[in-house]
Amino acid sequence: MQADKKKKFNDFCNYCDKTGIVHIPGSDLLGEVPLIPCPKCVEPKCTCNKKEPFYIYDKGEILDCFCRNIRIKINKINRIYNRSGIDKKFRWKRINDFKAENKLSNEAKKYAYEIAKTFPRIKKGLFLWGNPGTGKTLLSSIILTELIIRNAVEGKFIKISRTYFNRLKATFVEGSVTYGQSSEIEKELENADILVIDDFGVQRDSPWEQETLYNLVDARYEAEKFTIFTSNNNPHISFKELSDGRILSRIKEMCRIMEISGKDYRENL
Ligand SMILES: [Zn+2]
Ligand SMILES: [Zn+2]
Repeated sequence: MQADKKKKFNDFCNYCDKTGIVHIPGSDLLGEVPLIPCPKCVEPKCTCNKKEPFYIYDKGEILDCFCRNIRIKINKINRIYNRSGIDKKFRWKRINDFKAENKLSNEAKKYAYEIAKTFPRIKKGLFLWGNPGTGKTLLSSIILTELIIRNAVEGKFIKISRTYFNRLKATFVEGSVTYGQSSEIEKELENADILVIDDFGVQRDSPWEQETLYNLVDARYEAEKFTIFTSNNNPHISFKELSDGRILSRIKEMCRIMEISGKDYRENL
């Protein structure tokens, strides 16, 4: 008990991977908040009856309950997560939900965990490439989920052709709800603490698309923002010519490039 008293406020246990927060799988499907304060290291010390604003009264003084920071953080994570754009079927997936089937995907999983543990100190983002159906979108969604849960930072997930280009094109159409807002959309993605760009490098890009992509990548590079890409193409070959090689050279500096190839795992689902 003596040692317990000396523990720092943020000294959480291994059960919650030192985050103070635990995820209950499947609970979001019931419309519940899937995150709870750790039942081993936070809940036992909570004496506020889980009531907002999570204060306790001690000898006439108003103090923060031990759970307070964690409960406020969980609320913030939920708000960020709901606007992150992560695909429904990959929502709330965690590192252990990724089953590495071969050496390459095991290496990628290891780096994903390293990112989760060391962000924001980690400098290099990730460029994941390989044939379709090897779990690139799943793994990048997992990394984003881990980073949002652990750090409560703003993170966005976009499919480059389907969401990004289409959203931008809509802003040029008079009468559309987002008419004239292209720079807002671009700014939002340039400034997000973490950005996942899924399905990067669609073929037969128009000059406008190439320039738009370059601008996004370059803005994130300049601001030293953490970025994850997934692609079906080997960047060393496919992006050599894209925007005269400028995109590839940015990616090389921003990211660790990892291949994750293998058989299509969706066949086994
Ligand atoms: Zn814990
Ligand atoms: Zn409490």
